[in-house]
Amino acid sequence: SDDGLMRRLSVLGSTGSIGTQTLDVVRQHPELFRVEALGCGSNIDLIEKQAREFTPRLVAVYQKDQAAILKTRLKDTGVRVIAGMAGLIALAQLPQADIVVTAIVGMIGLRPTVAAIEAGKDIALANKETCVTAGHVIMPLAEQHGVKILPVDSEHSAIFQALQGKADSKIHKIYLTASGGPFRGRTQRELARVTVREALAHPTWSMGPKITIDSATMVNKGLEVIEAKWLFDVDVDRIQVVIQPQSVIHSMVAYEDGSILAQLGSSDMRIPIQFALTWPNHLPSPAAPLDFETLTRLDFAVPDNGTFRGIPLAVRAIRAGGSMPCALNAANEWANAAFRKGRIRFLEIYDVIEQVMDRHHIVPEPTVEEIVNIENEINRYCEATFAGKTAAQADL
Ligand code: NAD
Ligand code: MG
Repeated sequence: SDDGLMRRLSVLGSTGSIGTQTLDVVRQHPELFRVEALGCGSNIDLIEKQAREFTPRLVAVYQKDQAAILKTRLKDTGVRVIAGMAGLIALAQLPQADIVVTAIVGMIGLRPTVAAIEAGKDIALANKETCVTAGHVIMPLAEQHGVKILPVDSEHSAIFQALQGKADSKIHKIYLTASGGPFRGRTQRELARVTVREALAHPTWSMGPKITIDSATMVNKGLEVIEAKWLFDVDVDRIQVVIQPQSVIHSMVAYEDGSILAQLGSSDMRIPIQFALTWPNHLPSPAAPLDFETLTRLDFAVPDNGTFRGIPLAVRAIRAGGSMPCALNAANEWANAAFRKGRIRFLEIYDVIEQVMDRHHIVPEPTVEEIVNIENEINRYCEATFAGKTAAQADL
């Protein structure tokens, strides 16, 4: 009856892990959501299927050749197809949408996210790299445009949920939980030779390849510390990472009276994705409920920051401030991809990040333009410095 209550979505990165689960949430609540736009990098086979199912107004495909093929394929539908960064920005600013789900991976999501905020769209934020590199830009911009940034990342959703109705209470501490990834408990020596396949076998979550590798290095948790700092305006000194191997407690907030509020649930991203889209309401979900008959224990441990240097590198970056988190993130994006392609070894990911950070000259309050330039520069530096060197050193 009331189209006014419909939430009209643009999904940037609809073909990925978060994107496809977002569309699952939409399928669960057809009366609540209407998909106005879909966007991806190059997977036109899947996005064509999605376009036929959800009949959006607009589909954005970053790769121009793929966009051209899709355009021909979708001729019978009346769906508009746009290519390149201009396409992603058109998706972000589509007048008919209220919320943009940023399910794209990497810093490439920065310009579309900024464009969406400037167009007054609420953001369901999965794309943490944008928050890490430009939290100082997007948080004030969102405030200025009166838009909400609704966290999708499970830990940040848990924190967000523990903060509901507590506007007048100070956060004493955030306990950011982590599974520890597939290599928890291993020594440096054992990590020296791990393969891409081993690193991709996450014990508790099923996710896209980039974030799965970031979970193995614990860089993901480091990025999440920075993400939490910006989303909840807390000093990093108040954010403590706690290993919770079962991934049942998704994070906790401690208040000044000693009360600690936690959010628990099965490790199914459709729960936090849906809450970002139905906030402040909790509605039925296809996710399996947590089963206390099979769950017999919850364990906690301290992260091994000496072996897995992702968290200390990120804390160093955010303490240094300015463009240093951008340097950390850009170096990590390069190293993560290089590891996946077999160009560098697992532990070299940390060396690449550290060397880039050591050489980086901090820009105090980098603009979006400067952030993009720094990223490109670091990419070129990494290609020139690490690719050649490690290829030469590779032993067979
Ligand atoms: P994924 O690799 O499964 O999907 C990435 C999506 O981004 C795809 O749809 C791809 O087409 C799109 N994309 C990539 N490059 C693009 C480009 N140049 N232009 C347009 N689209 C492009 O990744 P994912 O695991 O879904 O992660 C997406 C984001 O969500 C990441 O920032 C990740 O850190 C965050 N996140 C993911 C999970 C998870 O469970 N997967 C959990 C928390 C946070
Ligand atoms: Mg997370």
